[in-house]
Amino acid sequence: MAESIVVPDLWTGHCQCGDHAYEASGIPNDPHLCSCEHCTRLSGAPAMAWVGFHRDALKWTGPVGEPTYFSTWPTLHRGSCQRCRTQLTSVADGSDMIMVAIFSLSRSAELAPVGHSYREEAAPWMAITLAPDPQRRT
Ligand SMILES: [Zn+2]
Ligand SMILES: [Zn+2]
Repeated sequence: MAESIVVPDLWTGHCQCGDHAYEASGIPNDPHLCSCEHCTRLSGAPAMAWVGFHRDALKWTGPVGEPTYFSTWPTLHRGSCQRCRTQLTSVADGSDMIMVAIFSLSRSAELAPVGHSYREEAAPWMAITLAPDPQRRT
């Protein structure tokens, strides 16, 4: 019987200009859309799409290393590229997860959202495509 080898799933991503790149391993957790006022304002779009990885499973591999963080709440920090302004990450104090903007991932098409946070604040014309909201998230 052939021995099976479990290879951890490796995900890679980067900002538009390439200053920031990352590798994340493991199973992506809770892919979801968010239409909170910060996600919509920061992105200029009706929602952002996020997915979580364990913080210690994500490594910055690009020439500039970690993105620059801006706190949208005192305990929530958004990482973006200072050159091209791509939104990359969201980190909450006390959490062992780092949220990654799904569309910064090279394989973004493989992750479909399982929920939509702040769906009640979403643009009304998104209503026909809203995913279920199993629980409200920040
Ligand atoms: Zn960039
Ligand atoms: Zn949000």
